[in-house]
Amino acid sequence: MEDKREECHCDKCGNEAEMTITCQTIEIEDQSGAKKKVQQETRTCTVCGGEMVTVIDE
Ligand SMILES: [Zn+2]
Repeated sequence: MEDKREECHCDKCGNEAEMTITCQTIEIEDQSGAKKKVQQETRTCTVCGGEMVTVIDE
């Protein structure tokens, strides 16, 4: 689990805002029930506090 910060455009408040980005690896099941690991990235806007979760399928 790592924390980093990045300036980017927030979809919620529309500002160019600093985001705290937390990356973690989670396990999900696909349609056939097989487990697989994906990267989940949570961006928290420091302006509006909104969270955006992106799952990066590898
Ligand atoms: Zn925002």
